[in-house]
Amino acid sequence: SADAAHELRTPLTILKGEIEVALRSPPAEDEYRRVLTSCLEEVDRLGALVADLLFLARSDSGNVHISHAPVNLTSVLHDAGAALQALAEMSHTALVFSAATDVWTQGSASMLFRLIFNLGENAIKYTTDGGSVELTLEQTEGRARLSVKDTGPGIPPEEQQHIFDRFYRADPARSRGGTGLGLALARSIVLAHGGQISVNSILGKGSCFMVQLPLIPQDTLRAEQDREGEGQRVEGETAE
Ligand code: ADP
Repeated sequence: SADAAHELRTPLTILKGEIEVALRSPPAEDEYRRVLTSCLEEVDRLGALVADLLFLARSDSGNVHISHAPVNLTSVLHDAGAALQALAEMSHTALVFSAATDVWTQGSASMLFRLIFNLGENAIKYTTDGGSVELTLEQTEGRARLSVKDTGPGIPPEEQQHIFDRFYRADPARSRGGTGLGLALARSIVLAHGGQISVNSILGKGSCFMVQLPLIPQDTLRAEQDREGEGQRVEGETAE
């Protein structure tokens, strides 16, 4: 709670400061616009933080309801990769993909997107100019295996066991504006999907985050797709 309060207090202090300064100065449209834009950024930041805290609180009490809908993890990886590409370009990092086609799991596509995005965002954030980040998706032994590998600074062995804790930052000076919730959320999402997450990291060489998720058995997938097909046919018939 102390960590959460601390994180919430920073944007609130900025909001208060900006508003007080604006109220003290004579009204000028440009200045008001600048202050409102800056306040909106802080409100967005607060909103995202509160949403993350709510998700973590719900997952603590076992109240996260994940749908059992089939999710094409390959498509989610491509969507997340497209979003990450912009970040990679900005930080001059090469982003490399390799994904098996049509790897299906069950759950929430938006949460799985968030999982991949958080891992990819960290990999890009902590990898300095000229490095590379590799996103890989395979399917082996009944599991979907996703890995996010970077050529960044690596994580000291004694810190690897803490990085999935809420608000933990291995090196605050390096945290680059993050909230320290990214990996805690990633772990909650993986656990809610019946999977596992781990890290393999060598100081000075880079890190590799690995996620395993259950695959949808092929017969379940076929039955699900048949049912969807039926639904579409019935809708089509009604429309006629
Ligand atoms: P943050 O918002 O600080 O990035 P995270 O929960 O995402 O919070 O990560 C926790 C800490 O783990 C980070 O502060 C950083 O020290 C370390 N970390 C996470 N990913 C990497 C990575 N790819 N390379 C090096 N350090 C990392």
